[in-house]
Amino acid sequence: MRRFFSTIMLYAVILIGFSWVYHNNDNARAAVNRIAYNFQQLKSRVTGQKATTTASAKTQQTSSDSDSVSGRWKKTTATVYVSYENQTLQQAALDAIAKWNATGSFKFTQTSSRKNADIVMTTMSKDNDAAGMTQMSVDSLTGYFVHGMVYLNTAYLLDPSYGYTMERIVNTAEHELGHAIGLQHTNDISVMQPAGSLYTIQQRDIDAVNELYSSQASSSSATSSSIKTSTQNVAAN
Ligand SMILES: [Zn+2]
Repeated sequence: MRRFFSTIMLYAVILIGFSWVYHNNDNARAAVNRIAYNFQQLKSRVTGQKATTTASAKTQQTSSDSDSVSGRWKKTTATVYVSYENQTLQQAALDAIAKWNATGSFKFTQTSSRKNADIVMTTMSKDNDAAGMTQMSVDSLTGYFVHGMVYLNTAYLLDPSYGYTMERIVNTAEHELGHAIGLQHTNDISVMQPAGSLYTIQQRDIDAVNELYSSQASSSSATSSSIKTSTQNVAAN
């Protein structure tokens, strides 16, 4: 039994060494993250309909995977790299960052270094029903986030037939940044509704951030989580 624990300790030290050595190498770091960290992926479902569809034909769909992985940053601040070629997405990202910063609950600081950024905001263009997607890497030994990727899906947000107004694009960016802070989906009136684009940040969301960061990060035990990979996909409407 004793030997078992020292093996686990050694394993943890090796993993920490790995992440340190490859800290500045995105590809290697990503590979290490897949092994060493819990992996959290959250999507916002597209809520727009093609213009040809009538409003009455709108359907409600909810599916969720309950195997969620929680996490948070060590402090209520994170650096974010934002560089969208598209002006609409760039403005939406900046507006969303300003909106979160104005709440006083969490502060995003822009950085010009993609490599060193805690969070990278970028695009995807996929026909996968996700208007936005956030992937967070969590150090399973501490429960703290180590890196985040926020994707805004140009295939939907910038396609006029889905009817995304600027307000809803900003809401989508706020929603994904909410995940990047550590917030989970809720069915309350909230920017964190699974649909993602219907509401801006609410007092409920500010309270949720304050609560998350007033408690200890929930680290799971090294025995069960250091090689655990968990993916959460939540989608609705
Ligand atoms: Zn979401």
